[in-house]
Amino acid sequence: MSQGENGTVREETGAVDTLEPQLTAADRCDSCGAQAYIRVVVKSGELLFCAHHGKKYQEKLSAIAHSWHDESARLLEDQRA
Ligand SMILES: [Zn+2]
Repeated sequence: MSQGENGTVREETGAVDTLEPQLTAADRCDSCGAQAYIRVVVKSGELLFCAHHGKKYQEKLSAIAHSWHDESARLLEDQRA
C-alpha cells in the first residue's frame, strides 16, 4: 500500500461553488414578487430582482453594486422550450 505524504489527492469533498449562489424559485423579486433571476449585492445587503426589474434598475444600481449576479439568460432558455 502506498501512503500519500504531501501529494494526497482527495476526491471532491469540499464544495467550491459557493461564490455564486444559484437563485431558486424561492427567491423573489423585491419589486414585484416574481421569481428572481438577478441578485445584486450592495453595501446595505442584497437585492433580488426578476429579469424585468433587474434590467430596469441596472443603470442606477451598477454604480453602487458590489456584485451583479445575473441568471436571466436561464429564463430565456426556459422560454425557448
Ligand atoms: Zn420584478
